[in-house]
Amino acid sequence: MSYVFPPPPVVSVPVVGRAERFPVHRIYCVGRNYEEHAKEMGFTGREPPFFFLKPADTIVVADASQTAVIPYPSLTANLHHEIELVVAIGKGGRNIRAEDAGQHIFGYAVGLDMTRRDLQTEMKKQGRPWCIGKAYDQSAPIGPITPATDAGDIHNATIWVQVNGSDRQRSQVSKLIWNVAETIEHLSTAWELQPGDLIYTGTPEGVAAVVRGDTMTGGVEGLTGISVQVA
Ligand code: MN
Repeated sequence: MSYVFPPPPVVSVPVVGRAERFPVHRIYCVGRNYEEHAKEMGFTGREPPFFFLKPADTIVVADASQTAVIPYPSLTANLHHEIELVVAIGKGGRNIRAEDAGQHIFGYAVGLDMTRRDLQTEMKKQGRPWCIGKAYDQSAPIGPITPATDAGDIHNATIWVQVNGSDRQRSQVSKLIWNVAETIEHLSTAWELQPGDLIYTGTPEGVAAVVRGDTMTGGVEGLTGISVQVA
């Protein structure tokens, strides 16, 4: 096989305790999946799950050993952090039932769904797609993936992010409106899930702006945390 130009490299995420990396297929994101965050965005908190995507190459690997650096993106004056539990799919499928969802999960990671909030808000107002607010380059920092068997009781874990050492978001994964299994059930009716898919499961309340020079340090109890600086 030859190509008219070199194909892009496979996007991948390190796996805790393994030499092999997790190759990324798609990035699905769940919108407004914690009640208090839905409320701060002006909604009731009670609605069926909805989804948007980011391209796989928006991933920025934030290795545990060092702070990853992301540039302050273009076109925005209101860049928001959204700390999220990320589910890594190891076995694909469609119409997966919630009670079977666990068999499809390879592991979990900590992610940041970085958002150009001003652009997203304007697109919402105009009834246009969110892509420019959500799916911009380097918008999906992620830490190493912990295999599910080593992740502990992820469904009752604390989730948090600090900016320059001060709490911004702190909640519990148990407060997800649609839990991980239910999210996989819904998502797999709309798309056939594939090994390598990542699901950013939604963010709790406390989303706010970061500026150049800020460092975000985030975690989910039981997983390797991430540290990301905005340059
Ligand atoms: Mn989000």
